[in-house]
Amino acid sequence: MKSDYFKDLKIYNSLSGKKEPFVPINNNSVGMYVCGPTVYNNAHLGNCRTFISFDLINRYISHLGYKVRYVRNLTDVGHLENDSDSGEDKISKKARIEKLEPMEIVQKYTLDFHQIMEKFNTLAPNIEPTATGHIIEQIDSIKLILESGYAYEKNGSIYFDVLKFNEKGTYGKLSGRKIEDMMNNSRALDGSSDKKNPQDFALWKKAEENHIMFWNSPWGKGFPGWHLECTSMSKKYLGDYFDIHGGGMDLKFPHHDCEIAQSEAINNKNPAKYWMHTNMLTLNGKKMSKSIDNFILPNEIFSGNNKVLSKKFNPNVVKFFIYQAHYRSILDISNDALLASEKGLNKLLDGFNLISNLDSNNKTSDFDVDKWISNCYSRMNDDFNTPMLIAEIFECLKFINNVYLGAKNLNKKDKEKIKYTLEVFLHDILGLKTNKEKNTLDNKISSELIQLLIKLRNQSRVNKNFELSDQIRDDLLKIGVQLNDDKNESSYKMI
Ligand code: AMP
Ligand code: ZN
Repeated sequence: MKSDYFKDLKIYNSLSGKKEPFVPINNNSVGMYVCGPTVYNNAHLGNCRTFISFDLINRYISHLGYKVRYVRNLTDVGHLENDSDSGEDKISKKARIEKLEPMEIVQKYTLDFHQIMEKFNTLAPNIEPTATGHIIEQIDSIKLILESGYAYEKNGSIYFDVLKFNEKGTYGKLSGRKIEDMMNNSRALDGSSDKKNPQDFALWKKAEENHIMFWNSPWGKGFPGWHLECTSMSKKYLGDYFDIHGGGMDLKFPHHDCEIAQSEAINNKNPAKYWMHTNMLTLNGKKMSKSIDNFILPNEIFSGNNKVLSKKFNPNVVKFFIYQAHYRSILDISNDALLASEKGLNKLLDGFNLISNLDSNNKTSDFDVDKWISNCYSRMNDDFNTPMLIAEIFECLKFINNVYLGAKNLNKKDKEKIKYTLEVFLHDILGLKTNKEKNTLDNKISSELIQLLIKLRNQSRVNKNFELSDQIRDDLLKIGVQLNDDKNESSYKMI
């Protein structure tokens, strides 16, 4: 393992409702499955919050020295309107509206999703399986569930028998929902008379005549139910029992409870040791969601082309804003919140960029650097507590500022340790871009050096050595310093 800090990692397990020590099933390897997007629409910032949170989790666990296999699927079939077992397939519906092939819709929004995730500087998963690429595996899962006796066929569709499964008393264990309450509250909402009970859910749906996306199966032409793809693909790439299964809170029920039921029917085993759920991003106090027309797209934020914000914000700022709340807390996006995050991030990057030019010596620092490093790890080991980590970083930057002002002393070795640790946390773990030094120039020496070059250039112009003066101008431009010549003097700006 890379560091000793791995021993202290604790993860909140939604299944037990407790923070538990993280002990992987297979020593140094970690398997993590995260439910990916349904690619029928542009991902909104709420969706992105969830994927950015799991990117952080992947980055941190990898940093600790574990070899992570991160699987995040793409749902490209089988997810029906309102997440129920009836209505139109979301992708087919969008294809009809946009007059495109379903697979054109899938391609279009998959590309958009990847571009957005790249703008947020998230790492790609190790495997990104699609539901349509794993129909055979899903049919195999259905056969196993039928064999276990917890599913039944009706008119070419296969349903999971929730009441029969619940005789073991295990359905709904993640969300804590009781089957009796579900029975009292449910009507045959989708009019699906094929089901024995309204709580039952589809494993395979018979394709009606005008249904576009369908496959052959032992039960006729049809398509898989939404919950089945994650059971089948996680099993294929991570095995029957793996370390972490994640998604947004809203997936606890029915999706994850159904996944658990399916895996228990197949293997008699809940598929994941730790279940992790991110909380919702809200807008105007309500869950960000396309279906209630309460959302903002990342590109609308980056371009400033929206009705909610007063200006544009870059992905780094938005990501920093997301990290200022713990992943299990609700987070509300607003103009003021983003402005505050931008200010905070600028301050943080200014401090970070100051370190290289600080004076240091061999005396003892006025700051316990080792303790500070250990605190940073403790914050992350406490269920990935990013707001507390950011507070620790600001604590160190306060000290750095005091060193800059000559009010505190910094030891040479400590300076290197601080620089290294900040780079690790900001770049490798939070995945923030810290190249602000390209855009701002706030340290005295660089500014004076540029003034010196301007002076030399002016002299060469007076001496009519235009070759040299042009070279100085062009070389400065290459490193992001643009000179503006006035009649009397030259000024510069960073670009
Ligand atoms: P979907 O494409 O609807 O399956 O959603 C993709 C992921 O985004 C799932 O893990 C959802 O739980 C998550 N998600 C959806 N809405 C929000 C939101 N407002 N805040 C955070 N995560 C969300
Ligand atoms: Zn899933």
